Amino acid sequence: MIRLAAFLVASSLGAQTIAITGVNVVDLTAGTIVPGQTVVVTGNRITALGPAASTRPPAQTQVIDGSGHYLMPGLWDMHVHLRSNPVDRDRPLVDENAATLELFLAHGVVGVREMGGDLHEHVLRWRDEIAAGKRLGPRILTAGRKLDGAVPSWPGSVSTMSAADAREAVKQMKKEGADFIKVYYNEVELPLLRAVLEEAHAQGLKVTGHLPRNLTLAAALEAGLDGMEHGMYLRTPKPEVWESYLAEGRQRAKVSIAADGAETTKRQLWMHDAGEAGRIYAQLAARPFWVTPTLMVEARVRYEISEQKFDSDPRKRFFDPAIWASWNPETGRRRPPSGAVLEALKKSARQVRELTVQAHKAGVPLLAGTDCGVSNNYVMPGWSIHEELAMMVEAGLTPAEALRTATSNAARWRGTEATEGAVAEGMRADLLLLRANPLTAIGATRELEALILGGRIFPRSQLDAMLRAAASRVEKNQTR
Ligand SMILES: [Zn+2]
Repeated sequence: MIRLAAFLVASSLGAQTIAITGVNVVDLTAGTIVPGQTVVVTGNRITALGPAASTRPPAQTQVIDGSGHYLMPGLWDMHVHLRSNPVDRDRPLVDENAATLELFLAHGVVGVREMGGDLHEHVLRWRDEIAAGKRLGPRILTAGRKLDGAVPSWPGSVSTMSAADAREAVKQMKKEGADFIKVYYNEVELPLLRAVLEEAHAQGLKVTGHLPRNLTLAAALEAGLDGMEHGMYLRTPKPEVWESYLAEGRQRAKVSIAADGAETTKRQLWMHDAGEAGRIYAQLAARPFWVTPTLMVEARVRYEISEQKFDSDPRKRFFDPAIWASWNPETGRRRPPSGAVLEALKKSARQVRELTVQAHKAGVPLLAGTDCGVSNNYVMPGWSIHEELAMMVEAGLTPAEALRTATSNAARWRGTEATEGAVAEGMRADLLLLRANPLTAIGATRELEALILGGRIFPRSQLDAMLRAAASRVEKNQTR
């Protein structure tokens, strides 16, 4: 337990300065620990950092004994959803989604990149309220609404059928306040995608999303896409092989021998070409092109729901029953796979992990994103980022490499790496004080002793209180 004797006194005086003494600073760039540091936080900035002897906190400082603890930058989950349940359109789940925001904080998630949905008006409001200090939650960047084709896959998406539509949609998103653009085209004409990209870039917005299946990764890169979501798109079949596969699929759909899930997945697995990957990953690295592999959702939603029961999961009590119902395969949007499909999806997830590591080794910048939220079975806001990081390490990244995807890389994506995403003087002080060293065991990110955010310190007791409040809110709603 850290010493917080000064905490109550200081907070009641509205203290401006916090000093963490004797702490191990986690240097994620070097992958090393700098022991015995004093870190002074004034407002939301680190104003001094150095050995205790040479770093004297000013008078009236709230002092926290950090000895035996580790200080690292706060985590960003770069792929989350705040949305309603498409199979239960009567309940928009506005308050239920808002209630998940504190769950992120309680798990050291200081920022989220929200990938767009039907609650965009609320998400934009939450973002602004959090930024203004009127609401407690992680900083939010949001796509607003997704851009999709004629028949959008998700409620809330904007349908665009021409280049002119696309430009208009991007302008509209910008006007509404979107921070970036998310594309979700199953198939797309290249001129339409180019229009999205040109307009977005003219408006100063990055574009990320799903890879349309009629375009190869190389083609999407050439068109100007800034990044993509989901590691499955790291598969790089030879263009001519992919073309003939698509043509065959279209042909067979007409004669009602459409390929089933197992066949499609297996063939896509086998079509990956290592030579092509080497060439294309080098181009992605040079750009840089941002990849959010979302390993969590790849495993949990695609096959773990077939093999694990989550109903007795102790985390159930933190989520509104309506959110939990969207995750239950019996009541939610996604059905659990079985048989040959299940086996193929497991192989697919394994390949995605391998390709993620290969891409990383080739220098492709990765972002940690979990795809948590309504409809993505048991990918739980707050908890999921720690599972994602653990999966990256299990796949072959070092803990430092995995942690960078949720800290300094996330800041690079936002264009704020000069002032965010590291524990150093002048940097924004969104910090985690951990009980264990995250460089030796990634699981240490779950050992959160205190969160420092927006010039405030949230000790473990306060984070636990947040969790208790979330659970009791759910309980109240259940007995309503
Ligand atoms: Zn998603």
